[in-house]
Amino acid sequence: MNRPQPSRRVQKLTSAIFTEMAQRKKEAARTVRVIDLGIGSPDQPPAPHLVEALTAAVQRPDVYGYPMSEGSPHFRQAVAEWYTYRFGVELDPDQEVHALMGSQDGLAHVAMAWVDPGEIVLVPDPGYPIYAGSVHLAGAEMYPMPLREENGYLPDLEAIPEEVRKRAKLMILNYPNNPVSAVAPLSFFEQVVRFARQYGIMVVHDLAYSEMAFDGYRPPSFLQVAGAKDVAIEFNSFSKSFNMAGCRIAYVVGNAELIQPLAMIKSNIDYGVFYPVQEMAIAALRGDMSGHFPNTIGPLYQERRDVLLTGLNQIGWTIPAPKATMFVWASIPRGWSSRQFAFRLLEQAGVVVIPGSAFGAEGEGYVRIALVKKPDELLEAVGRIEQSGILHQVPQQ
Ligand SMILES: *Cc1c(COP(=O)(O)O)cnc(C)c1O
Repeated sequence: MNRPQPSRRVQKLTSAIFTEMAQRKKEAARTVRVIDLGIGSPDQPPAPHLVEALTAAVQRPDVYGYPMSEGSPHFRQAVAEWYTYRFGVELDPDQEVHALMGSQDGLAHVAMAWVDPGEIVLVPDPGYPIYAGSVHLAGAEMYPMPLREENGYLPDLEAIPEEVRKRAKLMILNYPNNPVSAVAPLSFFEQVVRFARQYGIMVVHDLAYSEMAFDGYRPPSFLQVAGAKDVAIEFNSFSKSFNMAGCRIAYVVGNAELIQPLAMIKSNIDYGVFYPVQEMAIAALRGDMSGHFPNTIGPLYQERRDVLLTGLNQIGWTIPAPKATMFVWASIPRGWSSRQFAFRLLEQAGVVVIPGSAFGAEGEGYVRIALVKKPDELLEAVGRIEQSGILHQVPQQ
Protein backbone atom coordinates (compact mmCIF):
# COMPACT_ATOMS: atom_id res chain seq x y z
CA MET A 1 0.00 0.00 0.00
CA ASN A 2 1.19 3.49 -0.82
CA ARG A 3 0.91 5.63 2.31
CA PRO A 4 2.26 9.14 3.00
CA GLN A 5 5.10 9.63 5.49
CA PRO A 6 4.52 11.60 8.72
CA SER A 7 5.92 15.14 8.72
CA ARG A 8 9.63 15.75 9.41
CA ARG A 9 8.46 17.66 12.48
CA VAL A 10 6.91 14.51 13.92
CA GLN A 11 9.85 12.31 12.97
CA LYS A 12 12.12 14.66 14.94
CA LEU A 13 9.95 14.40 18.06
CA THR A 14 10.52 10.73 18.80
CA SER A 15 13.45 10.00 21.08
CA ALA A 16 15.01 6.68 20.13
CA ILE A 17 16.51 6.14 23.59
CA PHE A 18 13.23 6.51 25.51
CA THR A 19 11.51 4.12 23.08
CA GLU A 20 14.31 1.58 23.34
CA MET A 21 14.38 1.82 27.15
CA ALA A 22 10.62 1.14 27.33
CA GLN A 23 11.03 -1.88 25.04
CA ARG A 24 13.89 -3.33 27.07
CA LYS A 25 11.98 -2.75 30.30
CA LYS A 26 9.10 -4.82 28.93
CA GLU A 27 11.48 -7.64 28.05
CA ALA A 28 13.19 -7.55 31.44
CA ALA A 29 9.82 -7.58 33.24
CA ARG A 30 9.24 -11.15 32.00
CA THR A 31 11.95 -12.50 34.29
CA VAL A 32 12.43 -9.93 37.08
CA ARG A 33 10.35 -7.47 39.13
CA VAL A 34 11.61 -4.24 37.61
CA ILE A 35 12.21 -1.22 39.88
CA ASP A 36 11.48 1.72 37.63
CA LEU A 37 13.51 4.79 38.63
CA GLY A 38 13.29 6.12 35.11
CA ILE A 39 9.96 7.90 34.94
CA GLY A 40 9.51 11.43 36.27
CA SER A 41 5.96 10.99 37.53
CA PRO A 42 5.24 11.45 41.27
CA ASP A 43 4.03 8.23 42.92
CA GLN A 44 2.03 9.87 45.74
CA PRO A 45 -1.65 10.98 45.67
CA PRO A 46 -2.63 14.63 46.22
CA ALA A 47 -3.39 15.75 49.81
CA PRO A 48 -6.93 14.85 51.01
CA HIS A 49 -8.14 18.49 51.06
CA LEU A 50 -7.32 18.76 47.35
CA VAL A 51 -9.27 15.63 46.47
CA GLU A 52 -12.18 17.01 48.55
CA ALA A 53 -12.13 20.30 46.62
CA LEU A 54 -12.20 18.36 43.36
CA THR A 55 -15.06 16.05 44.39
CA ALA A 56 -17.10 18.96 45.77
CA ALA A 57 -16.66 20.87 42.51
CA VAL A 58 -17.70 18.01 40.22
CA GLN A 59 -21.09 17.89 42.04
CA ARG A 60 -21.92 21.40 40.84
CA PRO A 61 -24.13 21.53 37.74
CA ASP A 62 -22.51 24.75 36.47
CA VAL A 63 -18.96 23.45 35.91
CA TYR A 64 -19.50 21.43 32.72
CA GLY A 65 -19.46 24.17 30.10
CA TYR A 66 -16.35 25.14 28.17
CA PRO A 67 -13.97 26.79 30.61
CA MET A 68 -12.05 29.94 29.66
CA SER A 69 -8.65 29.26 28.15
CA GLU A 70 -7.00 31.86 30.42
CA GLY A 71 -8.40 30.24 33.58
CA SER A 72 -11.17 31.42 35.90
CA PRO A 73 -10.77 34.79 37.65
CA HIS A 74 -10.54 32.93 40.99
CA PHE A 75 -7.78 30.73 39.71
CA ARG A 76 -5.74 33.65 38.36
CA GLN A 77 -6.30 35.58 41.59
CA ALA A 78 -5.06 32.63 43.68
CA VAL A 79 -1.94 32.29 41.51
CA ALA A 80 -1.18 36.02 41.81
CA GLU A 81 -1.60 35.92 45.61
CA TRP A 82 0.56 32.82 45.90
CA TYR A 83 3.34 34.45 43.84
CA THR A 84 3.35 37.40 46.24
CA TYR A 85 3.27 35.09 49.27
CA ARG A 86 5.95 32.72 48.01
CA PHE A 87 8.30 34.97 45.99
CA GLY A 88 7.33 38.57 46.76
CA VAL A 89 6.48 38.98 43.06
CA GLU A 90 3.45 41.18 42.22
CA LEU A 91 1.29 40.04 39.30
CA ASP A 92 -1.86 41.48 37.75
CA PRO A 93 -4.24 38.48 37.83
CA ASP A 94 -6.12 39.72 34.75
CA GLN A 95 -3.14 40.34 32.48
CA GLU A 96 -0.12 38.55 33.88
CA VAL A 97 -1.43 35.06 34.72
CA HIS A 98 -2.68 32.50 32.21
CA ALA A 99 -3.75 28.89 32.86
CA LEU A 100 -2.15 25.97 30.99
CA MET A 101 -3.08 22.33 30.53
CA GLY A 102 0.21 21.42 32.19
CA SER A 103 3.50 23.25 31.67
CA GLN A 104 4.07 20.79 28.86
CA ASP A 105 1.25 22.53 26.97
CA GLY A 106 2.92 25.91 27.35
CA LEU A 107 6.43 24.65 26.63
CA ALA A 108 5.32 22.74 23.54
CA HIS A 109 3.67 25.84 22.07
CA VAL A 110 5.94 28.65 23.21
CA ALA A 111 8.44 28.41 20.34
CA MET A 112 5.59 28.39 17.81
CA ALA A 113 4.30 31.59 19.41
CA TRP A 114 7.61 33.44 18.98
CA VAL A 115 9.96 31.84 16.49
CA ASP A 116 9.96 31.48 12.71
CA PRO A 117 12.13 29.18 10.59
CA GLY A 118 15.70 30.53 10.47
CA GLU A 119 15.51 31.93 14.00
CA ILE A 120 17.26 30.39 16.98
CA VAL A 121 16.17 29.13 20.39
CA LEU A 122 18.84 28.72 23.06
CA VAL A 123 18.18 25.52 24.99
CA PRO A 124 20.00 23.84 27.88
CA ASP A 125 21.98 20.65 27.10
CA PRO A 126 21.21 18.33 28.80
CA GLY A 127 17.62 19.50 28.90
CA TYR A 128 14.05 18.43 29.42
CA PRO A 129 13.03 16.92 26.03
CA ILE A 130 10.07 19.19 25.17
CA TYR A 131 12.40 22.23 24.88
CA ALA A 132 13.95 20.72 21.75
CA GLY A 133 10.53 19.37 20.78
CA SER A 134 9.03 22.85 20.88
CA VAL A 135 11.77 24.15 18.58
CA HIS A 136 11.17 21.29 16.10
CA LEU A 137 7.42 21.92 16.11
CA ALA A 138 8.11 25.55 15.23
CA GLY A 139 10.49 24.53 12.44
CA ALA A 140 13.17 26.70 14.02
CA GLU A 141 16.81 26.10 14.93
CA MET A 142 18.18 25.12 18.28
CA TYR A 143 21.46 26.20 19.82
CA PRO A 144 22.40 23.93 22.74
CA MET A 145 23.93 25.68 25.76
CA PRO A 146 26.13 23.13 27.56
CA LEU A 147 25.43 22.67 31.29
CA ARG A 148 28.68 21.41 32.80
CA GLU A 149 29.55 20.31 36.27
CA GLU A 150 32.57 22.66 36.44
CA ASN A 151 30.24 25.68 35.86
CA GLY A 152 27.74 24.53 38.47
CA TYR A 153 25.53 23.42 35.56
CA LEU A 154 24.86 27.04 34.55
CA PRO A 155 25.24 27.92 30.85
CA ASP A 156 28.26 30.05 29.96
CA LEU A 157 26.64 33.05 28.27
CA GLU A 158 30.03 34.42 27.17
CA ALA A 159 30.59 31.27 25.11
CA ILE A 160 27.54 31.92 22.89
CA PRO A 161 28.88 33.23 19.55
CA GLU A 162 27.93 36.76 18.54
CA GLU A 163 26.06 35.69 15.37
CA VAL A 164 24.02 33.19 17.42
CA ARG A 165 23.10 35.90 19.96
CA LYS A 166 21.84 38.09 17.14
CA ARG A 167 19.62 35.41 15.58
CA ALA A 168 18.39 34.06 18.92
CA LYS A 169 14.90 35.04 20.00
CA LEU A 170 14.25 32.79 23.00
CA MET A 171 16.34 31.33 25.81
CA ILE A 172 14.89 28.45 27.78
CA LEU A 173 16.11 27.95 31.35
CA ASN A 174 15.05 25.52 34.07
CA TYR A 175 16.15 25.84 37.72
CA PRO A 176 15.86 23.69 39.79
CA ASN A 177 16.86 21.61 36.78
CA ASN A 178 15.65 18.39 35.28
CA PRO A 179 17.71 16.21 34.62
CA VAL A 180 20.84 17.57 36.39
CA SER A 181 18.97 18.75 39.55
CA ALA A 182 21.15 21.87 39.84
CA VAL A 183 19.86 25.16 41.26
CA ALA A 184 20.72 28.71 40.17
CA PRO A 185 21.60 31.75 42.30
CA LEU A 186 19.75 35.05 41.74
CA SER A 187 23.05 36.56 40.57
CA PHE A 188 22.93 34.24 37.54
CA PHE A 189 19.35 35.33 36.77
CA GLU A 190 20.55 38.96 36.96
CA GLN A 191 23.27 38.19 34.42
CA VAL A 192 20.66 36.57 32.14
CA VAL A 193 18.40 39.64 32.35
CA ARG A 194 21.28 41.90 31.22
CA PHE A 195 22.13 39.52 28.37
CA ALA A 196 18.49 39.24 27.27
CA ARG A 197 18.03 43.03 27.25
CA GLN A 198 21.20 43.60 25.27
CA TYR A 199 20.32 41.10 22.52
CA GLY A 200 16.54 41.41 22.49
CA ILE A 201 16.02 37.84 23.65
CA MET A 202 13.00 36.60 25.59
CA VAL A 203 13.64 34.27 28.54
CA VAL A 204 11.37 31.32 29.25
CA HIS A 205 11.93 29.97 32.75
CA ASP A 206 10.54 26.57 33.73
CA LEU A 207 10.03 26.49 37.52
CA ALA A 208 8.35 23.06 37.75
CA TYR A 209 10.33 22.13 40.90
CA SER A 210 9.78 25.29 42.96
CA GLU A 211 8.44 23.35 45.98
CA MET A 212 10.50 20.18 45.72
CA ALA A 213 13.57 21.46 47.58
CA PHE A 214 15.64 20.29 50.55
CA ASP A 215 17.69 21.32 53.56
CA GLY A 216 15.77 24.59 53.92
CA TYR A 217 16.57 25.77 50.38
CA ARG A 218 13.76 27.78 48.71
CA PRO A 219 14.08 28.01 44.92
CA PRO A 220 13.56 31.58 43.65
CA SER A 221 11.33 32.80 40.83
CA PHE A 222 13.16 34.30 37.84
CA LEU A 223 10.73 37.23 38.17
CA GLN A 224 12.28 38.19 41.54
CA VAL A 225 15.15 39.83 39.68
CA ALA A 226 14.81 43.55 38.85
CA GLY A 227 13.76 44.05 35.23
CA ALA A 228 12.98 40.34 34.71
CA LYS A 229 9.34 40.99 33.93
CA ASP A 230 10.38 43.03 30.88
CA VAL A 231 12.13 40.06 29.29
CA ALA A 232 10.82 36.85 30.85
CA ILE A 233 7.86 34.58 31.28
CA GLU A 234 7.79 31.77 33.80
CA PHE A 235 5.98 28.43 33.85
CA ASN A 236 4.94 26.77 37.07
CA SER A 237 2.91 23.66 37.61
CA PHE A 238 0.85 21.71 40.15
CA SER A 239 2.20 18.36 38.88
CA LYS A 240 5.28 18.10 41.06
CA SER A 241 4.49 20.61 43.82
CA PHE A 242 1.12 19.06 44.73
CA ASN A 243 1.20 15.53 43.24
CA MET A 244 -1.30 16.53 40.54
CA ALA A 245 0.52 15.37 37.39
CA GLY A 246 -2.57 13.61 36.00
CA CYS A 247 -4.82 16.65 36.53
CA ARG A 248 -3.06 18.65 33.78
CA ILE A 249 -2.99 22.12 35.25
CA ALA A 250 -0.21 24.71 35.32
CA TYR A 251 0.21 28.38 34.47
CA VAL A 252 2.41 30.94 32.83
CA VAL A 253 3.13 34.28 34.50
CA GLY A 254 4.92 37.45 33.44
CA ASN A 255 4.41 40.54 31.37
CA ALA A 256 1.08 40.63 29.50
CA GLU A 257 2.64 41.34 26.10
CA LEU A 258 5.00 38.40 26.41
CA ILE A 259 2.18 36.02 27.41
CA GLN A 260 -0.20 37.22 24.69
CA PRO A 261 1.14 35.29 21.61
CA LEU A 262 1.06 32.03 23.55
CA ALA A 263 -2.45 32.84 24.77
CA MET A 264 -3.45 33.44 21.15
CA ILE A 265 -2.22 30.00 20.05
CA LYS A 266 -3.92 28.33 23.01
CA SER A 267 -7.25 30.07 22.49
CA ASN A 268 -7.24 28.56 19.00
CA ILE A 269 -6.26 25.07 20.14
CA ASP A 270 -7.94 24.40 23.49
CA TYR A 271 -10.73 25.75 25.63
CA GLY A 272 -8.99 25.56 28.95
CA VAL A 273 -8.79 23.39 32.04
CA PHE A 274 -11.89 21.64 33.49
CA TYR A 275 -13.27 23.94 36.23
CA PRO A 276 -13.18 21.36 39.05
CA VAL A 277 -9.47 20.88 38.40
CA GLN A 278 -9.01 24.66 38.68
CA GLU A 279 -10.89 24.54 42.01
CA MET A 280 -8.54 21.80 43.18
CA ALA A 281 -5.52 23.94 42.20
CA ILE A 282 -6.99 26.94 44.08
CA ALA A 283 -7.35 24.72 47.18
CA ALA A 284 -3.67 23.76 46.84
CA LEU A 285 -2.47 27.38 46.74
CA ARG A 286 -4.87 28.64 49.43
CA GLY A 287 -4.06 25.69 51.71
CA ASP A 288 -0.37 26.43 51.35
CA MET A 289 -0.86 30.16 52.09
CA SER A 290 -3.17 29.52 55.09
CA GLY A 291 -0.48 27.57 56.92
CA HIS A 292 -3.02 24.84 57.76
CA PHE A 293 -1.70 22.52 55.07
CA PRO A 294 2.07 22.96 54.92
CA ASN A 295 3.53 21.43 51.77
CA THR A 296 5.23 18.12 52.65
CA ILE A 297 6.69 17.44 49.23
CA GLY A 298 10.17 18.67 50.21
CA PRO A 299 10.62 16.43 53.28
CA LEU A 300 9.20 13.42 51.39
CA TYR A 301 11.80 13.59 48.61
CA GLN A 302 14.58 14.69 50.93
CA GLU A 303 14.22 11.43 52.88
CA ARG A 304 14.33 9.42 49.67
CA ARG A 305 17.36 11.32 48.44
CA ASP A 306 19.19 10.60 51.69
CA VAL A 307 18.26 6.91 51.73
CA LEU A 308 19.38 6.38 48.14
CA LEU A 309 22.59 8.40 48.29
CA THR A 310 23.68 6.93 51.64
CA GLY A 311 23.07 3.44 50.29
CA LEU A 312 24.89 4.05 47.02
CA ASN A 313 27.77 5.71 48.84
CA GLN A 314 28.17 2.58 51.01
CA ILE A 315 28.58 0.42 47.91
CA GLY A 316 31.10 2.80 46.37
CA TRP A 317 28.95 5.03 44.14
CA THR A 318 29.37 8.57 45.42
CA ILE A 319 26.90 11.13 44.08
CA PRO A 320 26.60 14.77 45.20
CA ALA A 321 23.32 15.47 47.06
CA PRO A 322 20.99 17.72 45.04
CA LYS A 323 19.28 20.68 46.75
CA ALA A 324 16.04 20.19 44.81
CA THR A 325 13.97 18.12 42.30
CA MET A 326 13.00 14.45 42.30
CA PHE A 327 16.17 13.39 40.47
CA VAL A 328 19.71 12.35 41.21
CA TRP A 329 22.27 13.02 38.45
CA ALA A 330 24.88 10.34 38.81
CA SER A 331 28.19 10.13 36.99
CA ILE A 332 28.89 6.59 35.84
CA PRO A 333 32.13 4.58 36.02
CA ARG A 334 34.69 5.26 33.28
CA GLY A 335 34.58 3.23 30.10
CA TRP A 336 30.80 2.99 29.80
CA SER A 337 28.51 4.99 27.57
CA SER A 338 25.46 6.08 29.54
CA ARG A 339 23.26 4.01 27.23
CA GLN A 340 25.34 0.88 27.69
CA PHE A 341 25.41 1.37 31.47
CA ALA A 342 21.64 1.88 31.77
CA PHE A 343 20.89 -1.19 29.63
CA ARG A 344 23.31 -3.34 31.63
CA LEU A 345 21.85 -2.07 34.92
CA LEU A 346 18.41 -3.12 33.73
CA GLU A 347 19.61 -6.58 32.60
CA GLN A 348 21.67 -7.35 35.69
CA ALA A 349 19.83 -5.52 38.48
CA GLY A 350 16.33 -4.99 37.09
CA VAL A 351 16.63 -1.26 37.83
CA VAL A 352 15.56 1.35 35.27
CA VAL A 353 17.45 4.66 35.06
CA ILE A 354 17.63 7.04 32.09
CA PRO A 355 20.90 7.42 30.16
CA GLY A 356 22.11 11.01 30.34
CA SER A 357 22.56 11.13 26.57
CA ALA A 358 18.75 10.92 26.21
CA PHE A 359 18.71 14.59 27.31
CA GLY A 360 21.40 15.82 24.94
CA ALA A 361 25.03 15.20 24.01
CA GLU A 362 26.28 16.85 27.21
CA GLY A 363 24.43 14.26 29.29
CA GLU A 364 26.93 11.58 28.27
CA GLY A 365 28.76 10.08 31.24
CA TYR A 366 25.73 10.34 33.55
CA VAL A 367 22.44 8.64 34.30
CA ARG A 368 19.31 10.19 35.81
CA ILE A 369 17.79 8.33 38.76
CA ALA A 370 14.26 9.35 39.79
CA LEU A 371 13.26 9.27 43.47
CA VAL A 372 9.79 7.98 42.61
CA LYS A 373 9.70 4.96 44.94
CA LYS A 374 9.42 4.57 48.70
CA PRO A 375 12.63 4.22 50.76
CA ASP A 376 12.39 0.40 51.04
CA GLU A 377 12.24 0.07 47.24
CA LEU A 378 15.18 2.43 46.87
CA LEU A 379 17.15 0.30 49.32
CA GLU A 380 16.27 -2.80 47.36
CA ALA A 381 17.55 -1.10 44.22
CA VAL A 382 20.84 -0.34 46.03
CA GLY A 383 21.12 -3.99 47.12
CA ARG A 384 20.54 -5.22 43.59
CA ILE A 385 23.07 -2.78 42.13
CA GLU A 386 25.65 -4.03 44.62
CA GLN A 387 24.90 -7.70 43.85
CA SER A 388 25.13 -7.12 40.10
CA GLY A 389 28.72 -5.97 40.52
CA ILE A 390 28.20 -3.47 37.72
CA LEU A 391 30.16 -0.72 39.48
CA HIS A 392 33.31 -2.85 39.24
CA GLN A 393 32.85 -4.23 35.74
CA VAL A 394 34.58 -3.08 32.63
CA PRO A 395 32.20 -3.03 29.67
CA GLN A 396 32.96 -5.39 26.79
CA GLN A 397 33.14 -3.48 23.56
C1 LIG B 1 7.55 17.36 34.82
C2 LIG B 1 8.11 18.56 34.16
C3 LIG B 1 7.28 19.43 33.43
C4 LIG B 1 5.87 19.07 33.06
O1 LIG B 1 4.97 19.55 33.91
P1 LIG B 1 3.42 19.48 33.59
O2 LIG B 1 2.91 20.69 34.24
O3 LIG B 1 2.94 18.19 34.21
O4 LIG B 1 3.21 19.47 32.12
C5 LIG B 1 7.83 20.60 32.91
N1 LIG B 1 9.14 20.86 33.07
C6 LIG B 1 9.96 20.04 33.73
C7 LIG B 1 11.41 20.40 33.86
C8 LIG B 1 9.47 18.86 34.29
O5 LIG B 1 10.31 18.02 34.90
